[in-house]
Amino acid sequence: MIDNGHFIGGKRVAGTSGRKQDVMQPMDGTVRGTVALASQAELRAAVENAKAAQPGWAATNPQRRVRVLMKFLELVAREYDALADILAREHGKTIADAKGDIQRGLEVVEVCIGAPHMMKGEFTDGAGPGIDVYSMRQPLGVVAGITPFNFPAMIPLWKIAPAIACGNAFILKPSERDPGVPMRIAELFIEAGLPAGILNVVNGDKEAVDAILDDPDIKAIGFVGSTPIAQYIYSRGCAAGKRVQCFGGAKNHMIIMPDADMDQTVDALIGAGYGSAGERCMAISVAVPVGNDTANRLMEKLVPRVESLKVGPSTDSSADFGPLVTAQALERVKGYVDIGVSEGAKLVVDGRGFSMQGYENGYYMGGCLFDSVTADMRIYKEEIFGPVLSVVRAPTYENAIKLANDHEMGNGVAIFTRDGDAARDFASRVQVGMVGINVPIPVPIAYYTFGGWKASSFGDLNQHGPDAFRFYTKTKTVTSRWPSGVKDGAEFVIPTMN
Ligand code: NAD
Repeated sequence: MIDNGHFIGGKRVAGTSGRKQDVMQPMDGTVRGTVALASQAELRAAVENAKAAQPGWAATNPQRRVRVLMKFLELVAREYDALADILAREHGKTIADAKGDIQRGLEVVEVCIGAPHMMKGEFTDGAGPGIDVYSMRQPLGVVAGITPFNFPAMIPLWKIAPAIACGNAFILKPSERDPGVPMRIAELFIEAGLPAGILNVVNGDKEAVDAILDDPDIKAIGFVGSTPIAQYIYSRGCAAGKRVQCFGGAKNHMIIMPDADMDQTVDALIGAGYGSAGERCMAISVAVPVGNDTANRLMEKLVPRVESLKVGPSTDSSADFGPLVTAQALERVKGYVDIGVSEGAKLVVDGRGFSMQGYENGYYMGGCLFDSVTADMRIYKEEIFGPVLSVVRAPTYENAIKLANDHEMGNGVAIFTRDGDAARDFASRVQVGMVGINVPIPVPIAYYTFGGWKASSFGDLNQHGPDAFRFYTKTKTVTSRWPSGVKDGAEFVIPTMN
């Protein structure tokens, strides 16, 4: 049994609120341990530690700061297998996929080693007589991140690395469903030389989140999770005068043009639709073949692939995907399949009855595939977040792009085609933040930014890439004058460049 308290002031501390909940192991439904649920006082203790440590860290030269990130990378390499094991056991994804989760986080850490360059300001020599203008980027102070269950390594690292590289102190409130890896990440940062107090992990639920929203010393909040919570945090955080970026849910379409290479398309679709049991914000949950002939060719190849998906425990290296994260998530996803059937969609592959031999208490279901889904159905409109793929048949390319554009969500989208013209038109007109051309999961590489449009994102700066350094710093612009003998007397009109 592992009791996760909090990580405050450079060490693990026990929770004192008297509230905690179980951390489950989805592959067999056993209890792995507990996680403390913080009170406002515990959050405040973390803020006090962060506030005390931050000025010294901000005053540390930026190259020395990023050396801690370099050392951290070395330490994670040492612990890679152990971290992936914790992650897979708490989340349910396979160990191979858990390694990908960690790796995508590390790639952002690597890019953050360039923080000294990214934080450089600008300089204009001689903007006026004896006048020079320069800008500088300074850390915000104490900042916080609130992260979801589905990438317990990657998303915390996307936030921690740029925030601390820029000289901030960071408070992470990870998902209460899989806190093990975030806690270990904090320990590894201390071992890498990060001063105590610069990275704190406060475990908890809504009470801890509300304490973050109300705390006057927290200057910025980065959130990733479902859209309703993203909206809540964005509006309340902004009203409190904080800098806030919130990334929400998704319903990612894959448009399949008549000229697409169908073998390549089906390979891409099966991985992007069902990998990690569909619990990815960039999972493809809607396939949109253009024309009935394309749809029929797609279904001919896709149905047997969905029927033969291999579901298994997280520790089975031959499994395509593992269990869902909780018993509630399993019931919710199965409930959506029931809704789809009652709405009149054609359930071509039904994975609801799947049971994993020897792991009967795990949260498993098989892959589900719906055909003839229409835009008015709930299974099309709402995020299911499970191994359920909907096929919406579009008569024309214009209908297909309209579907993606009219959908409330706009996180990711893909087009599969051999036609450069169509792909180019699609990339330009589609109202979605991240676009794949023959790439099913277009998560941008770490030195580009990540973020959706519409109800998938609130705020105006994306995650990682250049936006991360903007989000975690504030710009100061200095206009300086060394008059060298120029005397122009008192000025009562606004200075201009005339
Ligand atoms: P969630 O919204 O339930 O939880 C996210 C965080 O918010 C957690 O830390 C949780 O403790 C906290 N939270 C939950 N309910 C709250 C409440 N009522 N008040 C205050 N805080 C609350 O999301 P999840 O189930 O952990 O993650 C899955 C969701 O995240 C999906 O919708 C998925 O699409 C989305 N997601 C989005 C992105 C993206 O970049 N857009 C990336 C990953 C996941």
